[in-house]
Amino acid sequence: MIPGIYVHIPFCLSKCAYCDFYSVTSTKKIPHFIESILKEMEMYRGIFNRFDTLYLGGGTPSLLDSAQLAEIIDGIRKCFPLSSDTEITIEVNPGDLNRKAAESLFETGINRISIGVQSFDEHILSFLGRRHSSIDAISAIEDVQNAGFGNIGLDLIYGVPGQDLESWMNTLRKALSFRPEHLSCYQLTLEPSTPLGRKYKAGEIDPPDEDLLYEFFIKTSELLEASGYTHYEVSNFARDPEFMSRHNRKYWDHTPYLGLGPAAHSFSGNRRWWNHRCVDRYIEEVNKKMPPIEKSEILTLKQLRLEALYLGLRTKMGINLQDFSERYSFDLLDKKNVVLGRLREEGLITILDNHIYPTRRGLAISDSLSLI
Ligand code: SF4
Repeated sequence: MIPGIYVHIPFCLSKCAYCDFYSVTSTKKIPHFIESILKEMEMYRGIFNRFDTLYLGGGTPSLLDSAQLAEIIDGIRKCFPLSSDTEITIEVNPGDLNRKAAESLFETGINRISIGVQSFDEHILSFLGRRHSSIDAISAIEDVQNAGFGNIGLDLIYGVPGQDLESWMNTLRKALSFRPEHLSCYQLTLEPSTPLGRKYKAGEIDPPDEDLLYEFFIKTSELLEASGYTHYEVSNFARDPEFMSRHNRKYWDHTPYLGLGPAAHSFSGNRRWWNHRCVDRYIEEVNKKMPPIEKSEILTLKQLRLEALYLGLRTKMGINLQDFSERYSFDLLDKKNVVLGRLREEGLITILDNHIYPTRRGLAISDSLSLI
């Protein structure tokens, strides 16, 4: 289990109406943020042996120019040993890219790019408060392909109030026309602290009902699998196993990870800690040579086991019963025999070769599956 590094870059030019990730809309602090993140890396130098993924997420990492991104990546390389085949991912906003910017990104050593397309329908983009158009998304995809990236992911959102199945399938078909190596299809969540969440609470918008959401999910899985993609996690599809996100899989199987930057979370096996969700406080603490940690917690074996169950049943790889029993001292087949039998009869899981695998229908309701 080789750990991964996550760097949270907390800047966006504007806030999308559905987003509750931590970010600020002023970019003035970017230079101070970069100085601080380089100092935070130093605090962890020598603690971890080796990493094989680096994920630059946000926020909008593509607001930093390639020289600034290269400075962060060089800092990581100086402080931590990286495997020679390290997966280095960046999230980009389609509005920030052109051919030259894409080529500069490629030269920094970034080898995986995740483009926040969200939709090819202008009405949906505007409803979500995205600052790019579908034309921007198309040219961003073409630019990164032409710049030489061989591992491109498109992020899409469904279940938007007012969105019908046809609009969503059109977006999916358009995405497929580019043959991306990876697709993430997220169901919109109306978080209470966001503008859309508040509109929902006030009764001003009407999200799709559960039956329609289920149909979105099943039709997405059917179309993408028929097009050669593996539905390897509830929201994720890869054109080939080598394109499954190596970094995100660490979150799903309790591999340790180090999070740097404001609001970033870290995990070391049974301890989780997270940084202050405020860029000013983060910079202030780092400058005082203090770890910018807001809080940490030790997870009990039972908490780890429940998480492993929840996360494992969200993936096509499912749960290896032998590993599960060794890691969490819990024999699932023995202790949950009756309920597992019922789920199998209902066609929600299969049990084969000492594994529990969710079926497509099981993945669609994986949150309830994990309550066994
Ligand atoms: S660009 Fe991404 S991080 Fe920034 S507000 Fe929009 S969804 Fe959130």
